[in-house]
Amino acid sequence: MWHYRSTQVRIAVSYVLLFVLTMAALTVYLTTYLRRTYLENLQEQLTADVHLVADVLNARLAAAKAGDNLDPLADYYAELLGARLTLIAPDGEVIGESDFDRTQMDNHLQRPEVQQALSEGRGFSMRYSKTGREEFMYVALRVETEESVVGIIRLAIPVNEAASDLNRLTAAIFTATLVVTVLAVVLAFYIANRTTGPVRHLTQAVQQMASGDLSTRTLPTTEDEVGQLARAFNHMATELEEQIRALSTERCRLAAILEHMADGVIIIDEDGQIQMMNQAAAEILETAPETAMGKNFSTVARHHRLIELWLNCRRTQREGREAIETLQTAKRKSRFLQVIITPQYGAIAPGFIVILQDLTRIRRLETVRRDFISNISHELRTPLASLAALVETLQDGAIDDPPAAERFLNHIAREVAAMTQIVEELLELSRIESGRVPLYVKPTPVSDLVVRSVERLSPQAMRSGLSLAVDLPEALPLVLADKERVQRVVTNLVHNAIKFTSAGGSIAVTAYAETNRVVIMVKDTGVGISEEDLPRIFERFYKADRARSGGGTGLGLAISKHIVQAHGGRIWVESEVGSGSTFFFSLPAASKAA
Ligand code: ADP
Repeated sequence: MWHYRSTQVRIAVSYVLLFVLTMAALTVYLTTYLRRTYLENLQEQLTADVHLVADVLNARLAAAKAGDNLDPLADYYAELLGARLTLIAPDGEVIGESDFDRTQMDNHLQRPEVQQALSEGRGFSMRYSKTGREEFMYVALRVETEESVVGIIRLAIPVNEAASDLNRLTAAIFTATLVVTVLAVVLAFYIANRTTGPVRHLTQAVQQMASGDLSTRTLPTTEDEVGQLARAFNHMATELEEQIRALSTERCRLAAILEHMADGVIIIDEDGQIQMMNQAAAEILETAPETAMGKNFSTVARHHRLIELWLNCRRTQREGREAIETLQTAKRKSRFLQVIITPQYGAIAPGFIVILQDLTRIRRLETVRRDFISNISHELRTPLASLAALVETLQDGAIDDPPAAERFLNHIAREVAAMTQIVEELLELSRIESGRVPLYVKPTPVSDLVVRSVERLSPQAMRSGLSLAVDLPEALPLVLADKERVQRVVTNLVHNAIKFTSAGGSIAVTAYAETNRVVIMVKDTGVGISEEDLPRIFERFYKADRARSGGGTGLGLAISKHIVQAHGGRIWVESEVGSGSTFFFSLPAASKAA
């Protein structure tokens, strides 16, 4: 838990070190000071005592002769003073000793305190005693009469014994220091823990935040700098959370826009690596965003003009635009693209934005419109040309030949009728297409839609040598239909079947019910429609077989398709060249029962 480099340990250790050093210095100073004072006191005490003894023993020493035994005297005073007393003759011989056997003691003349006393009157020394075998403090005094030196009185005390009080004191000081130091260590760690606790909390909170939990907050417990830091942290976390939330919302919106955009958008970096690609772009380039991601634009684009445009844009640092026709490998159809490449220099992430607009549909609509106009002109030109020729013939004199004139006028009337039909059908088609004609939809029996049209066309079928039959199942549901218009669809389909079936063939109109809808079917045994014509026969003016189509405008199926679609149904065809065609169209069912 406690790392040796943590702030807590650092604070605690330095605090403890400082404390221990101070205490050690104090202890050393205190003990030496005490010892010195104590020894000084002791010395003074001994000096005072030795003077006292000298005063008392002055006469006795003066009277002493060599070989005297003054031990009892020494014993007596030593006992009184609580110290060792030695009486020494001026020649150094010990003549009285309180604590040891005098006979074992050598001449004391050379003892430093004795020498000092002899020369200076008083001598002091602290040394190891040969006699006592321990350290003694000695104070010696020269005793003299008016004429001569009569001896030396020496008082001694073993230092250790004397210092035992001192040692006790020192021990007490050490014990106190030790106890206080231990307390200090505990306190130091406690304080350090208290101080660094909030910092640890903060660290934990920051780590949690770094691992993605932005809701982390730390509680500011104190009012000090750490508390301020915690508050600042909380504030920062709130701001950060809000900013990140705003950013991700923005990001989601942007992603949604890009994903649902019809235009392809690709973002590439300076080196040409794809950073982003939306679904539309992926579809245009026939790839998937996941596979394209991180690849080079040139490998994904695959179209040399697209790559050239990008390289050019990179070189000039200018926006590049170009219309490009590409070939879709999957559908084998060409596609028209408007490509815009914009460089993003100086942005946070420099690179390029490529926008791919698919103009194929617009192009196709343009083509359809152009074809439509040319088809109309073509369709009208033929009858107009023949009208012009007929009128001219009449003007040139045919008008004066009544039978011929009548023929020509009949011919003119037919051409005008054909033209009127074209114009009327066109008008009808454009009205249905624009949705301007209202449908009067009612639940209607299928027979109502089919029988009338078939009956009307029966004579024509008979003339062409064809059998035409209606065969409806019994229990067909009613369909939602505008009767007039659906009849028109049936008429168109049956009429076509008659036109494109040679004598001896047969035409059948049937129907069957499916879930929610009824399918009506017109089947013939005619010439059929080739595979390449099949997808186009519902287009305006499209005629697969111009020779057979005869007076047809090529608008019948287009009108039928629009009528069926306006009902919410579908029209389609199945056919095989030589064996006949079947046209189907569906109408929504009104109810289950007939
Ligand atoms: P049209 O007035 O020429 O009949 P439609 O729009 O009705 O115009 O038909 C378009 C073309 O579809 C026709 O010219 C014909 O080539 C083809 N077609 C339509 N119905 C049939 C059919 N039953 N059998 C074969 N070809 C057909």
